[in-house]
Amino acid sequence: MKEYFKNNEWLIIEDGFDPDYNRVAESAMSLGNGHMGMRGNFEEAYSGDSLRGTYYAGIYYPDKTKVGWWKNGYPEWFAKVLNGINVIGIDVIIDGLELDLAKCEVTDFKRVLNMQHGYLERSFVATDKNNHKTQITSKRFLSMADSELGAIAYSVTPLNYTSTIKLTPYLDGKVVNEDSNYDEFFWEEVEKKVDDNSCFLTMRTKKLGFQLTCAMTYDVLSNGEKVACHDAQKIAKDNYVGYTVEKVVEKNEQLTLMKYFSSVSNRDYDNNHLGMKATEAVNRAHRSGYDVLLDAHIAAWEEKWQKNDITITGDTEAQQGIRFNIFHLNQTYTGEDQRLNIGPKGFTGEKYGGSTYWDTEAYCVPFYLSTASSDIARNLLVYRYNHLEKAKENAAKLGLKGALYPMVTMNGEECHNEWEITFEEIHRNGAIAYAIYNYINYTGDKGYLAEYGTDVLVEISRFWADRVNYNPRKDKYMILGVTGPNEYDNNVNNNWYTNTIASWTLEYTIEALSYLKEEHQTIYKETIQRLGVQDHEITKWKDIIKKMYYPYIEDEGVFAQQDGYMDKEQILVKELDQANLPLNQKWSWDRILRSCFIKQADVLQGIYFFNERYDLDTIKRNFDFYEPRTVHESSLSPCIYGIIASQLGYEDKAHEMYLRTSRLDLDNYNNDTEDGLHITSMAGTWMSVVHGFGGLKVIDNKLHLAPFLPKVWQEYSFRVVFRDCLIKVIVGKQITIYLEDGELLPITVYNQDYELKKDQPITI
Ligand code: BGC
Repeated sequence: MKEYFKNNEWLIIEDGFDPDYNRVAESAMSLGNGHMGMRGNFEEAYSGDSLRGTYYAGIYYPDKTKVGWWKNGYPEWFAKVLNGINVIGIDVIIDGLELDLAKCEVTDFKRVLNMQHGYLERSFVATDKNNHKTQITSKRFLSMADSELGAIAYSVTPLNYTSTIKLTPYLDGKVVNEDSNYDEFFWEEVEKKVDDNSCFLTMRTKKLGFQLTCAMTYDVLSNGEKVACHDAQKIAKDNYVGYTVEKVVEKNEQLTLMKYFSSVSNRDYDNNHLGMKATEAVNRAHRSGYDVLLDAHIAAWEEKWQKNDITITGDTEAQQGIRFNIFHLNQTYTGEDQRLNIGPKGFTGEKYGGSTYWDTEAYCVPFYLSTASSDIARNLLVYRYNHLEKAKENAAKLGLKGALYPMVTMNGEECHNEWEITFEEIHRNGAIAYAIYNYINYTGDKGYLAEYGTDVLVEISRFWADRVNYNPRKDKYMILGVTGPNEYDNNVNNNWYTNTIASWTLEYTIEALSYLKEEHQTIYKETIQRLGVQDHEITKWKDIIKKMYYPYIEDEGVFAQQDGYMDKEQILVKELDQANLPLNQKWSWDRILRSCFIKQADVLQGIYFFNERYDLDTIKRNFDFYEPRTVHESSLSPCIYGIIASQLGYEDKAHEMYLRTSRLDLDNYNNDTEDGLHITSMAGTWMSVVHGFGGLKVIDNKLHLAPFLPKVWQEYSFRVVFRDCLIKVIVGKQITIYLEDGELLPITVYNQDYELKKDQPITI
């Protein structure tokens, strides 16, 4: 699979059509603008293998849970990211024959994603059964400047014939989710209208009643000149609206259809106004015209790249990889809508459902903290605050106090239904507390504790205090029956990472309360009263902190991933016949669980979060022990190992891990790109450059850097936002740091303090 896409700094190029890789290419070439997104599907009909997907942010369906054996406490439904109205469809009939790439000979095929300017282009020549050769080109985008809009320029040129060509641009609401549990159709039609100039279709989801309206209009051009098409046929069928235009097209004449579309929903507008709003939007697009719309879209992308591009000189593969990650993150979440979050597949596929995992707090928050204004990361934290009551219900359902945030959610309710994850992968609660710390440490916005943070911390602490159990024989607190981040080890006792983050949460909550007591006495009193915090609770938390049990492997001098880890047969990944990989596709689940192989950073995740607590020798021993046992079969894994490898000076390993995280989907490392992209781990890729190679940390309100240059690179650069300043770091033979925004920033580079001033770069 490696090198299926051509290496290029700004483009993802599929050169030649291979139907076997179509789903992979569709995932990689997905477009999105925070409001909606779609896979890189063809506009015209295609009867070959494809996952047609168009997704609208925040619109989901609670599919009835399907499990083999029901367990008390399971959620009844699983929130599906919902495939919605297909807005890109254009059927093409050439001399009576439908254009379908599975049914004709395809030559000169190119599908190209332009990441710099955010559009998708395709071109090919199709030779059909009548031996008609037709050149097709298409270019489409979802506007970053006006997120309700999108447009497609679709051109057809007969190369060796003159004949009638029919084009049918349409909106189709009869779409299904491949991952539906009961083959249910999730949508029902509400309204449709086909006027001379535009049409719209409104669909409503069953159960939750989300209403989505898409509208479209079009122009027809011959050799670039608009042509009138008064005789266009209007089409209105069940769940479908569109037009058919028909024209005799001369040999070498280029017939172009400009399709404009819009989407609005009752998440933003009243049900009664949806048709009008969608029509207004599509008219807005039509009035602007394709080129003006595209220019505004490109300008919006340029502004984004200006803040968060990472450049790498001397390694096109690595450059393409990082931009691929940053591009897709920006397409998925723009931070404008507080109700949204970042799904692991974004708008690129159906797998996983839900929109919010611990991935957001552990991986995405750091990215947004450094690349956008602080209110975006704050929005992500407030999202969890808004779900606090649901998290309390979730804990209560399991018979526990406090709050247990869900592993997977859309609206605060748990929708994951594997007992070893739903009930046991409770470390997610720790990541939510950690994100509060991380945000405050980075931004200095301690006021967040007074406003929202303390409530969340107290309730999470209450959960931990109830979930631990005291073992009098050892005089220690233990956490039994958990699954750590390494999901290849279920229902274990004393996962070191979980015990560590639980105890840390208690410490941080006590610290937060002390801060409120000292600095905001009125708020403190009000908070204590509102939350009913009792002295005996704090006393218990302190006792747990003092007596938490941390498993340790004496002879290796490393933290034990869990109590029974060393009972497993110890084999290294390199000793395995590589034909066994990826284990999750080759081995039975029980064999994986019995093995010592680790899916993703677990002990190392803790070492990354609480890095300053451990000396370099400890970090090294743990890395040297765990990395050779890790198969990195979660996309979230290589970035964490890469960051720690950088810290240890394992430069080659750090670079290897970087390539693996940044090109995970492009090179289909885990053989699952076809399901969609690993959006949340893309933030990890960014971390592996900025936190890893750049050595960025914030200690005592100060930005620290310790950059190194991977051997194969000539130079790299990145920008970070820190406390109202924007800095640019260029790492080549020397390191140059610029203050691009702001007046003065104290900064520490390789443990040496500097004062960074505007127009006075530091060169080291
Ligand atoms: C990982 C989890 C992660 C989820 C969504 C799983 O494969 O093991 O840690 O939260 O994917 O990205």
